[in-house]
Amino acid sequence: MNPKTIIEPFKIKSVEPIRFTTREEREKILIEAGYNPFMIHADDVLIDLLTDSGTSAMSSKQWAAIMEGDEAYAGSKSFYRFEDAVKKITHMKYIIPTHQGRAAEKILFSIVGGPGKYFPNNTHFDTTRANIEFTGAEADDFLTEVGKHPEQRADFKGNMDIEKLESFIKEKGVENIPLCMITVTNNSGGGQPVSMQNIRDVKNLCNKYGIPLFIDACRFAENAYFIKLREKGYENKTPLEIAQEMFSYADGVTMSAKKDALVNIGGFLAMNDQGLAMKCRNLLIVTEGFPTYGGLAGRDLEAVAQGLTEVLDEHYLQYRLRSVEYLGEKLVAEGVPIIEPPGGHAIYIDAKRFVPHIKADKFPGQSIVCELYLEGGIRAVEIGSVMFGKYDKNNKLIPPPMELVRLAIPRRVYTQSHIDFLIEIIIEVFRNRNKLKGYKIVYEAPILRHFTARFEPV
Ligand SMILES: *Cc1c(COP(=O)(O)O)cnc(C)c1O
Repeated sequence: MNPKTIIEPFKIKSVEPIRFTTREEREKILIEAGYNPFMIHADDVLIDLLTDSGTSAMSSKQWAAIMEGDEAYAGSKSFYRFEDAVKKITHMKYIIPTHQGRAAEKILFSIVGGPGKYFPNNTHFDTTRANIEFTGAEADDFLTEVGKHPEQRADFKGNMDIEKLESFIKEKGVENIPLCMITVTNNSGGGQPVSMQNIRDVKNLCNKYGIPLFIDACRFAENAYFIKLREKGYENKTPLEIAQEMFSYADGVTMSAKKDALVNIGGFLAMNDQGLAMKCRNLLIVTEGFPTYGGLAGRDLEAVAQGLTEVLDEHYLQYRLRSVEYLGEKLVAEGVPIIEPPGGHAIYIDAKRFVPHIKADKFPGQSIVCELYLEGGIRAVEIGSVMFGKYDKNNKLIPPPMELVRLAIPRRVYTQSHIDFLIEIIIEVFRNRNKLKGYKIVYEAPILRHFTARFEPV
């Protein structure tokens, strides 16, 4: 027999209760939070889908590895275990631990960035962009056209647009492009994968111009499994073999271990260039710590090393991608508009089509986010005019191209019945969508306002 049901490939040894609230309580909580879910205490949330970053459940083997942590300041045994685990997957020569992904970015771009420099990527994640722009350099996105259309289905909507990338290199000049990046999967573009063919094509183009290629590898395992499922020639390869091939085209890697290393904190920078690695290590010592711990405890390095092997388990990856797809399928069946097909780590509701009566300047995504909390204690995040909106000279909102609500799924944390509950709540909110109201901002910080803004219904 070949059972259809894909089950969670683990049993539960330790549980963490979640706290139920009443609708009346949630109404009060939401008002106190200024209608901003970032301001709600996590203890008042039933199912927390704010992010998949640092929210993974660790395995019993990871917790056991934590006890094995060697806290020696220099030359810790745990560092060598970590280094071996990263090398086995990436084959990079120099492995530099950092406390999270943005610390790796900060070090890398402080060295290669600066005014007059340009960094192309399929889509820069916001911390990557911020670290590039902070040095005075420019971050440019070259996402394939189909990746920009939420309603169009395609296998690899995270791909780089090779032609646009080549014209950009010719226009800006090779000497002004210290490196090219590719983000797998494409977080800001909905967790959509990049094909092996595309990585290879980007590498060939980079080789033609002598530009190094770096991979932002936060979700490399999810990307590898998408390649296995969707790209010809990879159906019989293991996720490890696919990941190794992906990294064989790269000259360097940045990674937030809070995603596909299944830990709550950690990251690394890896590369083949010895000169660059020396400069990075020197900066690391100033900002993060000695090169064999880089801002982490020995026990954290152990947990990353163990997580990197677990994340490539086929049963895990099959369950992981299937749980996100399952949520997407059920929503689509009820007519809920989402970005299709579902990506690896999250479902993105298309708020423009969900509540067409709420215009961008009344924050349609925020309205849905608030309603999901009121209806079911679910915390999601707006990715639209609240997060990325700008103002023109007359203080009029310039909305971003898409108004989205992200439901990020933490790794190994929720079971299928949590997801079924979530589906029920979303469908209920969707049925009542005509009653949803817009919001106005009553307080906002000058930068990154979405974290602390306060709203009122209009
Ligand atoms: C999360 C993330 C980062 C930054 O990592 P942190 O650990 O949050 O600093 C960089 N790039 C991508 C694609 C990410 O998803």
